[in-house]
Amino acid sequence: MIPPSDSWDTRIRRAEELAREADPTKEILIFYTRLLQSQKDVYEFLRSRVGWLPSGSLVEDLPHVRECTGIVLRTVEANGPPPLAEQARSLMSAPDAVDEMLLEYWNSPSDTQFFAKVILQPYMRWLAESGGHPFNKGGEKSERRCPFCGGMPQVSFLKIQEATSESGNRDLVCASCTINWSFRRVACAYCGEEQPTKLCYFHTPAYDHIRVEACDTCKRYIKGVDLTRLGFAVPLVDEVAAAALDVWSQEHGYTKIELNLVGL
Ligand SMILES: [Zn+2]
Ligand SMILES: [Zn+2]
Repeated sequence: MIPPSDSWDTRIRRAEELAREADPTKEILIFYTRLLQSQKDVYEFLRSRVGWLPSGSLVEDLPHVRECTGIVLRTVEANGPPPLAEQARSLMSAPDAVDEMLLEYWNSPSDTQFFAKVILQPYMRWLAESGGHPFNKGGEKSERRCPFCGGMPQVSFLKIQEATSESGNRDLVCASCTINWSFRRVACAYCGEEQPTKLCYFHTPAYDHIRVEACDTCKRYIKGVDLTRLGFAVPLVDEVAAAALDVWSQEHGYTKIELNLVGL
């Protein structure tokens, strides 16, 4: 469930690499790199608490999580677009509002709750890696939701064929905790539609290893990263870099299943 290659450092390196190449999304990728760095710092902070492991109840773990929110807020204040930087500044002086915001996301996660999503991704990641389980967390149970935390899928990816695999080698990555789970290869990640005539794939040579996976039943889409074409791609990061595909999808009437951290 948690591939060892999918570390914060791998994501940061990939974002830096793509920021060097990509002109139209350069700014976005530079900001995303800084966000990833702050998430790594949150993760390391929580991981290095002596004699503490996350309980999985956010109410109980809040004193520890609260201590590292400043890392993210300072990063966004210094590097984010003006509206987010402004919001970061006002949250810095309102610790009660930060608590409330984190608990609200925990109870009913939404992709528009930017700060809570950034802060809680590394918390949930460490919870998963340290063998814990989330308690009293909102989110429905279904094969289209993360089996660990109930989160929505952020991106899908195809991986190199393994002889023992039965899933067709397509995985979804959770938007809330960033772990991945196996999913049917030909099915909508939002509504489960399986009829091939309802499922559309869009691809452009500009992003050879990425495609839009759209569904005409629910009009939702997700991007899919094909690791069999580009083995060193990092799905969460390459997804952000292919911002042009989001513009294209939205112009064609599709809504993204879950907006990514840069709001696309
Ligand atoms: Zn999850
Ligand atoms: Zn659908």
